[in-house]
Amino acid sequence: MLFHSTRGKDRNKTFEEVLMQGLAKDGGLFMPDHWPEVNLDNLKKLDNFIDIAKEIVPLFTGSSFTKTEVANILDNTWNNFDKKDFIDIFEINGSISILELFHGPTAAFKDFGLQLAAAFFNKTLQKQKKTAIVFGATSGDTGPAAIDACKEFDLIKTFILIPEGNMSEIQRKQMTTVNKDNVFPILANGTFDDCQDIVKRGFSERTFLKDNQYLLAINSINWVRIIGQICYYFYASLKISTLSKPLNFSVPTGNFGNVFACYAASKMGMPLSKIIVAVNSNDILDRFFRKNDYSKAKVNETISPSMDISVASNFERLLYDFYLEGDAQLCSELYSNFPNSKIEIDSNIWKKSSELFISYSSDDKATYECMKHYFNNFNYVMDPHTAVAADAVKELNDKLVGKTVILSTAHPAKFPLALKNAGLNTSIPNKLSAVLNKKEVAKKLSSNDDSIFEFINNNN
Ligand SMILES: *Cc1c(COP(=O)(O)O)cnc(C)c1O
Repeated sequence: MLFHSTRGKDRNKTFEEVLMQGLAKDGGLFMPDHWPEVNLDNLKKLDNFIDIAKEIVPLFTGSSFTKTEVANILDNTWNNFDKKDFIDIFEINGSISILELFHGPTAAFKDFGLQLAAAFFNKTLQKQKKTAIVFGATSGDTGPAAIDACKEFDLIKTFILIPEGNMSEIQRKQMTTVNKDNVFPILANGTFDDCQDIVKRGFSERTFLKDNQYLLAINSINWVRIIGQICYYFYASLKISTLSKPLNFSVPTGNFGNVFACYAASKMGMPLSKIIVAVNSNDILDRFFRKNDYSKAKVNETISPSMDISVASNFERLLYDFYLEGDAQLCSELYSNFPNSKIEIDSNIWKKSSELFISYSSDDKATYECMKHYFNNFNYVMDPHTAVAADAVKELNDKLVGKTVILSTAHPAKFPLALKNAGLNTSIPNKLSAVLNKKEVAKKLSSNDDSIFEFINNNN
């Protein structure tokens, strides 16, 4: 299985190349050359998450890793989860279940994608006798998950920019209390967007990089993260409907990686009814699915900060595969003027959205109400991101047939202020309370000059 770019110019890439490169050279995103088919009968005989992952992951990695290598990697990945089988499923009632994906070490679902990424990074670096710098910015959950995933691998040094503003103390301390020689949390002045601009500049200038060293991104466009997430859709479908009846999945969405993994699972044979694309008031995706209007707007700060985006990077993959059916030329054209002008596709093509997608946008008030609703009616405390997905299900209920799975992407204790404002409480898992009392070590640097690059250079 090889990979190619959604914009057509970067082709015939192995898994390892796609893994280490991240973004395609033509600015597009990598896609597999075809959708591998999962043998559902085989999968139905399995019971646990790792065994499912051992069926799914090798379908994409064959160009670079043997099945045995992948099995070994998987046996040593997804460490320090609270649950033996990594995931819990909480049944709300006969038709709604919550897929709890927050039992990993950093209490957000991003542990699934980033631990798999780090394991494959490390294996590749060992094989090629190279080292890597991981460099990224975080709005809250990506940074902790990336740091945790990479910190045990000596071939990788991780530099994470922490913007000022809308992040909880726990999230910040998950990064600043790690205290390892290869982990560098950086408190940068400026917003998340400012920090992302620096990361972009770092990737284009590469001034701090040594010979034989990779510069790796942690954002959700890396295909390996999608692979890690595809696994839990098959798992949920197996546990909730024995991979037989199609389910609805309600996904709290930002950069569209998690939704795209659900779509990918369906292309690989998982029975699927509808994907509910649930967003907060940053509603570019809702505007697309409701009225064919994909246009960039200003970012609003919400109580679900990991979904505060102005454009959804992974949406390009859906546009390319589902709507344009692999027409890379057209995909390049649509993106050539974006975000200056909006993306609007042929209305006859756009109509097929409703075969698979429904969207909903919930503002903070509705999100709080939904958190309260779930506590009052089901004694269930959920985090604000999960509540966005739950609210969509509440509002779209009449349009849904069969069972619905709400993806819970973070533990509620990560967002104490939102909980307090909703009048709710939750017990804090030990792994989160532990960071609160540790000493913070982080470098404060300006995002207005080259000091961040100099800092990386000096510590490389
Ligand atoms: C990152 C994140 C999301 C959004 O996921 P995407 O794959 O970017 O759509 C939702 N909830 C939480 C808690 C997150 O950390």
